[in-house]
Amino acid sequence: MTTAPLLQVQGLVKHFPVRRGLFGRDGAAVRAVQDVSFALQAGQTLGVVGESGCGKSTLGRLLLRLIEPSAGRVVFAGTDLATLDAADLRAQRRAMQIIFQDPYSSLNPRMTVGQILAEPLALHGLHAGRHRERVAELLQTVGLAPEHARRYPHEFSGGQRQRVGIARALAVEPKLIVCDEAVSALDVSVQAQVVNLLRDLQQRYGIAYLFIAHDLAVVRHIASHVAVMYLGRIVELADKHKLFTHPCHPYTQALLAAVPQPEPGRAKKQVLLQGDVPNPTRPPAGCAFHTRCAHARPDCAQELPPLVETAGHAVACHHWPEIQIPASLLRPPAPNPRLQRLQSAFLPS
Ligand code: SF4
Repeated sequence: MTTAPLLQVQGLVKHFPVRRGLFGRDGAAVRAVQDVSFALQAGQTLGVVGESGCGKSTLGRLLLRLIEPSAGRVVFAGTDLATLDAADLRAQRRAMQIIFQDPYSSLNPRMTVGQILAEPLALHGLHAGRHRERVAELLQTVGLAPEHARRYPHEFSGGQRQRVGIARALAVEPKLIVCDEAVSALDVSVQAQVVNLLRDLQQRYGIAYLFIAHDLAVVRHIASHVAVMYLGRIVELADKHKLFTHPCHPYTQALLAAVPQPEPGRAKKQVLLQGDVPNPTRPPAGCAFHTRCAHARPDCAQELPPLVETAGHAVACHHWPEIQIPASLLRPPAPNPRLQRLQSAFLPS
């Protein structure tokens, strides 16, 4: 029996109008998210990767309806978010939380951590009369001490502040957390501790994550499925194993090839990514990647390749069946001291 996904995204689009000159709009728009569709099951993690500006953070905000989509649907736990009025949307947001890259900017510096964690409990009428006890439980759940409730955000390290951010998200017992570059600003050992914590919480509470990151090593550790985005579109989507062992889209291959190699001679030179990301107000016609793709052919600039799924592996490329996966991506990566440190830190203690 198949269960309905917790989150279903259909044809999601977000264009930001560009204002220029004295009279404002000139019709141009940043096409941040274009025709994005996917499903996420309860308790699973979808990693979303891509270069800076590919639309992954905008996608995260659209899911929580922190910004309004230009088109498309977000169905969460069977409810189309577009059908909710402001009050119902607020109530629904209890089940959908977000953790940001910079927890310091999202924590009120004038409130103690106890007050920060009690605020969503009061807002949603949860644990009335026992906020102090609930705050202590939340702090312990994320590996902090109940006494930390009396401290202010500036008294914590970056990793501890991110734990406070996670505790605040957990306070309302969410079903989905969007982690927007949530570990990107942390050093490698703290990253690993926070990712381990997120995985533990997922196992205990069945939370689903949309895990937005540019570090493929971290995504590989936490995600069950991975979506690769380029200029606002998903160009490849598969379960983690398939995507990392059999990357089909030339852009995915280039991202994987760009993972640093410890031996210069072993650089994965066949698929180096060249040039800059094109202007998102004027994306190239046809396949938007054709200006940087080593396999581009004349038809690539004519027609947009649809995202076609075969045996659970979706690829948006006209020619992917003919494109050989570079041998350097198929053989196991050379030992990388940084990744080894990360991997050992990810092992359960
Ligand atoms: Fe490259 Fe063409 Fe495939 Fe686009 S459609 S990724 S340009 S081969």
